Amino acid sequence: MNLKILGSSGSVAPGQNTAAFLIDDVLLLDAGTISLSLDRDAQFKISHIFLTHAHLDHIKGIPFLMDNLAMSRPRTPVKVISGKEVIREIRRHIFNNRIWPDFTRIPSPEHPVLQFEEITPRKPLVIRGYRVYAARVNHIVPAYGYLVEDQTGAAVVYTGDSGPTEDIWKRMTGHRVKALIVEVSFSNSQSRLARLSGHLTPALLRKEIEKMPAVPEKILICHPKPAYRRTIEKELAAIEGIPMEILEDGMKIRIGEGN
Ligand SMILES: [Zn+2]
Ligand SMILES: [Zn+2]
Repeated sequence: MNLKILGSSGSVAPGQNTAAFLIDDVLLLDAGTISLSLDRDAQFKISHIFLTHAHLDHIKGIPFLMDNLAMSRPRTPVKVISGKEVIREIRRHIFNNRIWPDFTRIPSPEHPVLQFEEITPRKPLVIRGYRVYAARVNHIVPAYGYLVEDQTGAAVVYTGDSGPTEDIWKRMTGHRVKALIVEVSFSNSQSRLARLSGHLTPALLRKEIEKMPAVPEKILICHPKPAYRRTIEKELAAIEGIPMEILEDGMKIRIGEGN
């Protein structure tokens, strides 16, 4: 799998955009940024978008992608996939013909550019040869992490926003997890704030790693709040024996051996 980091920050600043991770040009994990990072052809290749939760920093690329698609020739709709609570919030509060048009009926109800689909932790989805598993994570709103496995059996796990959690780590059992994309939003001195807001610090992540069935080959850190990025970097570097890398927008990372 080829992973492209469109955005990986916990907020926006020049050169830093919010969570969006593109797999093999077609599957997108979260949609914090799309049209600012990809040209028109690349935007139009995206076929499925998996959302971890409905917070603005994870969804704000979708309204503008839909606007761009609606101006093009009719095509297969982009599927936006998540748990039912997440889909409900986005339908109700974004694509409601008040904040933004209902693109599930545009350009026509028969051939829209947007379709929603629900996923549950009970049943993986098979899409274009990938198997995608969802698992609940621990945030202040309903939120899901994903395990995406390619045809060779290599897997990438993305937690989205989450404080200390359980199910997504259990989900990793029996899978060859080549890379884990996990959030660290705050520094160690902000442990209380992290717990209250459903996020991690370097020290909390260290404890989460102990819960995993095996340490993933690559641990890729996302979602640092820009103000704390340097401190988080130092605190992560001080964790011995577990190399971790803080992601930057525009990075390209190869995962596993396939394609
Ligand atoms: Zn969030
Ligand atoms: Zn977030």
